Amino acid sequence: MPKTRILIRSDLNIKYIMPLLLVLFFSSFSMPLNEGTNVYICKGKSSKKYHYKKACRGLSNCSTKTYQVPLTEAREMGRTLCGWED
Ligand SMILES: [Zn+2]
Repeated sequence: MPKTRILIRSDLNIKYIMPLLLVLFFSSFSMPLNEGTNVYICKGKSSKKYHYKKACRGLSNCSTKTYQVPLTEAREMGRTLCGWED
């Protein structure tokens, strides 16, 4: 009876996958650096870009300090990739 077997199996899967999903969900908040990519941003008033390179031409005009943040965070701030980057 293959139908019954499939039902039992999906019950078990939910039991084991739910805690795993919860762990992944929360760890994405507590460990943003796990995302891997960090970018550089300028916090000047007219800055709306992020940069992969600290020595980027776009950052040389920056009036404030440059900050290193995770790419996801830069995107959440509404930043887009700088026009000088490759
Ligand atoms: Zn740039």
